[in-house]
Amino acid sequence: MARHLNQPLGGNEMPRFAGIASMFRLPVQTSAENLDVALIGVPLDIGTSNRTGARYGPRQIRNESVLVRPYGMATGAAPFDSFQVADIGDVALNPYNLLKSIDLIEAFYRDCLAHAAIPVSVGGDHTITLPILRALADTHGPLAMVHVDAHADINDLMFGERIAHGTIFRRAIEEQLIDPAKMVQIGLRATGYSADDFDWSRKQGVRVVTAEDCWYRSLAPLMEEVRIMIGPDTPAYLSFDIDGLDPSVAPGTGTPEPGGLTGSQGLEIIRGCCGLKLVGCDLVEVSPPYDTSGNTALLAANLVFEMLGSLPGCKRR
Ligand code: MN
Ligand code: MN
Repeated sequence: MARHLNQPLGGNEMPRFAGIASMFRLPVQTSAENLDVALIGVPLDIGTSNRTGARYGPRQIRNESVLVRPYGMATGAAPFDSFQVADIGDVALNPYNLLKSIDLIEAFYRDCLAHAAIPVSVGGDHTITLPILRALADTHGPLAMVHVDAHADINDLMFGERIAHGTIFRRAIEEQLIDPAKMVQIGLRATGYSADDFDWSRKQGVRVVTAEDCWYRSLAPLMEEVRIMIGPDTPAYLSFDIDGLDPSVAPGTGTPEPGGLTGSQGLEIIRGCCGLKLVGCDLVEVSPPYDTSGNTALLAANLVFEMLGSLPGCKRR
């Protein structure tokens, strides 16, 4: 018997502005049981260093995701004909305690991975990626990493703390959750504390692609190089901080920096991950209070759809 795959509620069955705003209008379930791909919200923003509000990201991205339709017209991607996907809700984290929240997130992802589902996550600030990587690396070993961001997130300490949204990639490399020789950081820019702020990454063997390296260019050739660097068989993770994009297209975020990537370059990066063995993806740092039009969250929902289309085994129409 053919397996029934969940389909998004159609815009001609229920108006898009009506009904329950689950991610992509998919069914909601309480665990990753029987899923190929689990959509997860992580409403954490107590790891931020400037503007807060990313705790509202999952809810707002779900709300804007009602406009996303099931097929990618340029790529032909048909994720809902390929995978069993559902929204498994939000991690019940502790809004008063960052370190406890990190552990709660890790436990949630361990449960997801016990069901062999690929987690596709919506933040939340970038701190959430560390516990996700802890869970994933325990299953898959050190991961290749495609990291899109205005910031390297490789501080040793922030305000004396080891865990914050700007320290996570240093921790992840130190903990050997990531293979730095198979990591690329794309979109880094703006002002720093010192002129060699990005050099710690470079010294670990990470490929650093600044925003200026991306200006006025298609990123398809870069992603071809990234696919060769990582290879098709290494478990890989895509972590997309929305502030990697320019504030003109994604103003609703906590640490905006001018001169960022365009929306189409963001699409090229995600589409360029097709061919990698992606074992998880996240989209972080959308802060709805700074997103008065809702366009940042709408863009984020579309980027998450593109992530589904780049997962291994996604059919193309
Ligand atoms: Mn970040
Ligand atoms: Mn950032």
